[in-house]
Amino acid sequence: MKNPDVLIAGAGPGGCASALGLAEQGATVLLMDPAPARQPSLSGEWIHPAGVAVLQRLGVEVDGASCAHHQGFIVHPPDRELPITLEHPGSSALSMPHQTLTAALLQMAAAHRGITQLSGHRLLSATEHGLAQTTDGHYRSALVVGADGRSSAVRRALRPAETPPVKLSRTAGIVLPLATLPTEGYGHVILGAPGPILLFRLTPDQVRITFDIPVPGPPQSALIRHLLEEYLPHLPGALRPAARIALTSRMVQWASNTYRPRDFHGRRRCALVGDAVGHNHPLAAHGLSLALLDAEQLAQAPHLGAYRRRSRSTSWAPAHVSAVLGRLFLAPDALSTGLRRSLFAEWHGSPLRTQQAMRQLALLDTRRWPLAATFARTAGRTLTDSGQPDLPALPRRARELLAWGGWLGRTHPPYTEGAPRDHVS
Ligand SMILES: Cc1cc2nc3c(=O)[nH]c(=O)nc-3n(C[C@H](O)[C@H](O)[C@H](O)COP(=O)(O)OP(=O)(O)OC[C@H]3O[C@@H](n4cnc5c(N)ncnc54)[C@H](O)[C@@H]3O)c2cc1C
Repeated sequence: MKNPDVLIAGAGPGGCASALGLAEQGATVLLMDPAPARQPSLSGEWIHPAGVAVLQRLGVEVDGASCAHHQGFIVHPPDRELPITLEHPGSSALSMPHQTLTAALLQMAAAHRGITQLSGHRLLSATEHGLAQTTDGHYRSALVVGADGRSSAVRRALRPAETPPVKLSRTAGIVLPLATLPTEGYGHVILGAPGPILLFRLTPDQVRITFDIPVPGPPQSALIRHLLEEYLPHLPGALRPAARIALTSRMVQWASNTYRPRDFHGRRRCALVGDAVGHNHPLAAHGLSLALLDAEQLAQAPHLGAYRRRSRSTSWAPAHVSAVLGRLFLAPDALSTGLRRSLFAEWHGSPLRTQQAMRQLALLDTRRWPLAATFARTAGRTLTDSGQPDLPALPRRARELLAWGGWLGRTHPPYTEGAPRDHVS
């Protein structure tokens, strides 16, 4: 099939879901990937309810023995503050090994008459007129979809002069068999180490732990010692012995995290989906859900402009949630600490607010004004320090808050203050 209606580069979650959506609309689709469903070093595993809903609409079924369901998150603040439970209202999140998700999607794609899979080949370049150069020769299509991830060749071809993504942090991941979480049915975010630690049940018999090491971090040779000394003490005591063994016996998977704003969806006959559009720190776990939502929106849009508008409006809130959480959870300055305490106090005091926060985190509410209102309320609370305002300091703190709000209003990389703006080559 040298002239399919649609050529999709990349058979990750975004590419497979795009193939299924577009083939359902009657298009003939060629799905090309050099190594589909390959075991990735470390990649997305937690899917928020909005992403789960897309999988359900696609009819994807995952064997219950390969996945786990979650009611929400429990945030463990530093300094022995009380943990905060954030529940998904009326829905649940899903986690599974990344390759389990892609294998399930690929299986559905293989069963679809409109989709042809081409493994072992990659797209090299594409033009906005729908011409693609690949390792399997040249193709001409009505639409080329770049679902080829963070270093998208389609994006590079359309925007050759673009600066590379900003390097944010490294993630170390371990899997513990037969381990028990402090509270089952929730993801746990532990703060207090140099970067956040995330614990969640990956499958019925495996617990995933990830450690985020912000840039610049220690040199490669000192990373494991850094994790043992600075992160391990923050884990629940019952998990520490197994985590120590996993960390010291080379069972660690590594990934580097980069940031590119979700600001480019393609041009004319070339569309981008998922990480190729832009990507963020994995802390908020939005990447998979956004890739699935992009795919659905692309398949349903009458033209590229309509897809761009819908995807942009969906992406605004998650981008800001990621940025705020990253800064509140990582920045050591007094203002960010004050904002974090105010936000946590609000969550402690109001189940309604925690539900609202979870709807925003889970991409179920992507409207701008509720998020802006949350920031304004949190900022106001920080200024008055819970009813006892430090009057002489008020003007200075108000100025600092305005600067913080100004940072939030721009297209900003997540918090990496104090670290060089290292670019990935
Ligand atoms: C450490 C870490 C943890 C994460 N955790 C989460 C999480 O818990 N939840 C979450 O939602 N997100 C998470 N993410 C993000 C998530 O993994 C991505 O957002 C998601 O995988 C994006 O899907 P995608 O289909 O756009 O791209 P990818 O999953 O990157 O798939 C791209 C595909 O394109 C193929 N490809 C590459 N180049 C070419 C080419 N030239 N031609 C053809 N094919 C090509 C690749 O082989 C690959 O199969 C995490 C990311 C990291 C790094």
